Amino acid sequence: MIKAKKKQAQPAVLIVDDKPVNIKELSILLKENYRVLVAYKGVKALKMASGKKQPDLILLDIMMPEMDGYEVCRRLKADERTQDIPVIFMTKRNEKKEEEEWFKIGASDYISKPFKPDVVRARVRTHVNLKLTSDALEKLALIDRLTGIGNRRYYEERLRKIWKHTTRTHHLISIMMIDIDQFKAYNDNYGHGAGDECLRSLTLALQNTVQRPMDVIARYAGEEFVVILPETDIEGTSHIAANILKAVRELAIPHAFSSIADYLTVSIGHVTARPGYGQNPDELRDMADCALYMSKRSGGNQAMNADISS
Ligand code: GH3
Ligand code: MG
Ligand code: MG
Repeated sequence: MIKAKKKQAQPAVLIVDDKPVNIKELSILLKENYRVLVAYKGVKALKMASGKKQPDLILLDIMMPEMDGYEVCRRLKADERTQDIPVIFMTKRNEKKEEEEWFKIGASDYISKPFKPDVVRARVRTHVNLKLTSDALEKLALIDRLTGIGNRRYYEERLRKIWKHTTRTHHLISIMMIDIDQFKAYNDNYGHGAGDECLRSLTLALQNTVQRPMDVIARYAGEEFVVILPETDIEGTSHIAANILKAVRELAIPHAFSSIADYLTVSIGHVTARPGYGQNPDELRDMADCALYMSKRSGGNQAMNADISS
């Protein structure tokens, strides 16, 4: 059981070669430290690379029937889902003159046949480590460390993609801005640590309320959160906003220094639009922000919709 778990956590290397003897030799070299995946044909390799369990590195033979290594590499690099997986070509000595071409089409490196075990291990280790490091950095750069949810950059990236998709499907999209009421007074009186704890609790309350797989919750700035609700109309959005207010009420975090209630509250502004009619996503967020401002002006602890038809 423990062994199986360990195997799953190992980085995965996909070997693509039409010759079983090459695959066998490489598998023996790598299986101790990597999860070894195998494809005998280019088409199969492409399918595996874009599938659910993506490899962290691809060792690619050049000469293969049907689809050769060049074509496989070109297609991997042209596909958004696979373009970041490093590719190492496995080459014969007499192919060396094509070296420049390999790098031009996106290979990270090459290893020559017949294989030298130490060279194979070293090159694989280098490129797998680079890949894992860049994956980790990318993840870190999109995640807010305090709450563990996406940050503003994550929100912007997701919104761009959802916006594009929704423009095609002609569905509605809603955006919601949420801001804690009188949070400065909370921090000033209960301390920054307690303030941070509030932000984590609020995150959990949001996660329990906003639950569709396509929905996005992100920490936009200090004590401001943003929610994207794809394919959600005004009624649905108002309903979720009311649920958020209720969930925050149920957190029942005492805030004796608030003039709104004796517990922590939030204000919400939201907007619903059908992308493609002259709006861009930033304008939509600005409108949600205006509605949030109106909620604050009206006393806080409430949600308002920005009516974009007027
Ligand atoms: P309003 O009701 O108008 O929203 O007033 P407010 O006090 O909530 O808003 P203001 O913008 O004046 O102050 C925001 C405060 O949020 C400032 C700071 O004390 C707190 N804050 C922002 N980011 C963090 C954070 O990461 N951790 C903690 N603990 N507090 C934060
Ligand atoms: Mg604020
Ligand atoms: Mg605030």
